[in-house]
Amino acid sequence: MRRWNGWGDEAIEYPLPEPALHFLQTRLGPAQTPEDARLSSVLEMAPNSRLPVHGLVTTDALERLRHARGQSLPDWIQLRAGMIDSWPDGVAYPSNREQVRLLLDFAQEIGARLIPYGGGTSVVGHINPLRGQAPVLTVDMSRMNRLLDLDPRSHLATFEAGVHGPQLESQLQERGFTLGHYPQSWEYSTLGGWIATRSSGQQSLYYGRIEQMLVGAELETPSGRLVLPPYPASAAGPDLRHLALGSEGRLGLITQATLRVRPLPAQEAFLGAFFRDWEGGMEAARNLAQEKLRLSMVRLSDPEETETTLALSGHTRLLGPLLRALRLLGYGPQRCLLIYGITTSPPDVSRVQRRAAEILRACGGLPVGSWPGRTWARSRFKAPYLRN
Ligand SMILES: Cc1cc2nc3c(=O)[nH]c(=O)nc-3n(C[C@H](O)[C@H](O)[C@H](O)COP(=O)(O)OP(=O)(O)OC[C@H]3O[C@@H](n4cnc5c(N)ncnc54)[C@H](O)[C@@H]3O)c2cc1C
Repeated sequence: MRRWNGWGDEAIEYPLPEPALHFLQTRLGPAQTPEDARLSSVLEMAPNSRLPVHGLVTTDALERLRHARGQSLPDWIQLRAGMIDSWPDGVAYPSNREQVRLLLDFAQEIGARLIPYGGGTSVVGHINPLRGQAPVLTVDMSRMNRLLDLDPRSHLATFEAGVHGPQLESQLQERGFTLGHYPQSWEYSTLGGWIATRSSGQQSLYYGRIEQMLVGAELETPSGRLVLPPYPASAAGPDLRHLALGSEGRLGLITQATLRVRPLPAQEAFLGAFFRDWEGGMEAARNLAQEKLRLSMVRLSDPEETETTLALSGHTRLLGPLLRALRLLGYGPQRCLLIYGITTSPPDVSRVQRRAAEILRACGGLPVGSWPGRTWARSRFKAPYLRN
């Protein structure tokens, strides 16, 4: 069961490793944890729903609370303090686009505001109901999560828009394909949400951002169905896919989308290097990007993030000797960690790795192999659990 006032599944804890706890204590001093509001007390505060009865809509207080806020820091503070001053009046889970149509018609008929809801991972208040006279209906797309079509010849896949990251990848990977779209919120965010927010992923350098993957889409809008067919590249504008991209739920509900997918890569590697300072790291990152090597990501941390990353790495026994060795080599407190990913076929991996290492060294970098990359890859979707 997903947490109602935090990130992720209630059964999953991601405890802070000892060095990270020590690191935070020396930075911030001892913590005083404020007491969280109890779920039962928050539910008692739910205002009466203003929606008339509808077969597809639930007005259950817990459902409404679960859809009342996203994942920003202000959202979390409100949830944990039990200070929810605006609630959706009802929540619907359509299973197909006919039901989406019925819900749009219902909202129009009674003058309700309708909020399309994907995974609710927005950090900018997208899905929070505004206070006002009109009732608010939140439409959760999570039941529309099927792969509708995969064309292995053209490498095109059509999915219903409520599919979230793990469901989408598992349906593709069991057929030998991948989308390769990995925002850090991948575990819960959905295809419709990615399109509506123009999201980018951790490996977008290789796989492309969502707008480079989107080939066509269908939306149910207040005035009917909008079909954006999967056209090939065209010189004639305007490109109507941009109606859906970044639409933030304002034009209608994206019900399905066709995406450019790729065969599973033969090999993926994540590697790391240290720099003495930020400037050296920036120079290397720029040179790597301009060389157009087949990298899937280049991620440079400033000194503070580098220190945090090392503290969180969990390599308790390795950490002391490693930091001493780095200091001796001249990589002191201003050191910056750069993690880069390579996605390609096996003989190419070593070629790309060799060339990348040359570029890194030319900018004063110290390539340290795969352990920082492996550590990052292991916890890439776990880090949000630390917020709990
Ligand atoms: C821990 C964490 C890490 C994150 N990492 C990244 C990252 O790496 N890259 C990144 O780009 N973002 C990131 N985000 C932000 C967020 O995850 C993205 O904006 C994501 O695309 C939202 O998807 P969602 O399905 O959760 O959408 P929601 O939060 O449910 O909705 C977001 C917006 O999209 C609209 N919408 C959702 N589904 C539909 C639909 N089917 N039709 C029409 N409109 C719809 C909603 O109305 C709303 O306006 C992160 C957020 C968190 C909390």
